[in-house]
Amino acid sequence: MTNNKAWHKKAQELHQEGWSYRAIGRELGKDESVVRRYLNKVRAEIEIFGEALDKPVESLWDDFSFGGGVGKQKKPSSPRVLFLDIETAPIDGYVWDLWNNNVSLDQIEKDWYILSWAAKWLGEEDVFYEDKSDTWDNEDDLMLLGGIWTLMNEADIIVTQNGIKFDEKKLNARFIINGFPPPSSYRSVDTLQIAKKHFGFTSNKLEYMTSKLCKKYKKLTHGKYPGFKLWKQCLLGNQEAWTEMYEYNVHDVLALEELYLILRPWYKSHPNFNVYTDSEETVCACGNKEFEHSGYHYTNLGKYDKFKCTECFAETRGSVNLLPKSKRATLHRNIM
Ligand SMILES: [Zn+2]
Repeated sequence: MTNNKAWHKKAQELHQEGWSYRAIGRELGKDESVVRRYLNKVRAEIEIFGEALDKPVESLWDDFSFGGGVGKQKKPSSPRVLFLDIETAPIDGYVWDLWNNNVSLDQIEKDWYILSWAAKWLGEEDVFYEDKSDTWDNEDDLMLLGGIWTLMNEADIIVTQNGIKFDEKKLNARFIINGFPPPSSYRSVDTLQIAKKHFGFTSNKLEYMTSKLCKKYKKLTHGKYPGFKLWKQCLLGNQEAWTEMYEYNVHDVLALEELYLILRPWYKSHPNFNVYTDSEETVCACGNKEFEHSGYHYTNLGKYDKFKCTECFAETRGSVNLLPKSKRATLHRNIM
């Protein structure tokens, strides 16, 4: 592992004294972007663990305790909704052909691992980010897992783009391989699944959907290192490429949040936020408390009030069947 301890400590001191990233970089002979990324990582660690974990992996492992999920133990006023996005290293192996490869396990030289992750809570400004830019020369991602595990453990709902198939499963694989217990259970909302279920977009990729729907955070295309070049350069320790990875990863999480908020009123299977609170006042997922009666919802055996949120226009229905018992007794059911 690259030993960065000396400049890390000094950078933290200067940062506390109010020095700018640029000035710290000049003083310590580091690029401004490297300083900014490092200090952001420290900020994330302090936020998550209460201290900067700037120490070797082994001692981190001894110190790490699996807290019971602080967020879930408190009486929440609303569910904790976490947005997350990971980037992984490719599997490095030998292939015989460009097409139709069947790679056997003994052709694998280096297995994949987590390169970086970014996450944020719904409605909060901070974006947490950690990566392997300091330890790009090995495959050990243990140092990155504690932070994201802790956030997931506190989350009631996790929002991702394709995370049900990819991010959540990849993280679980790294968690179990590294001896972590499962994070506390959560519900998953996947914008890719929302897109597939309710829309016929030309593409369901984050890049396409954000370019068409988002106003603030459209997906960034890789600037200097397009496509696989970015991964290749990161794996070679190119710190400029790592800065691009950071910008790309953090931006994706912000774009994901904006996209989620745009898609949410259309999503018929969205978790009901009201069950997470003790309050008996009905609040829309968007935070609005005003609803218009919008007619009735009918099932084969019932009639229910329908309500439209006056802010986001999401429609919900009441849970009381308005048909009297005598009427219900006359209804015939389908035979399945
Ligand atoms: Zn609403």
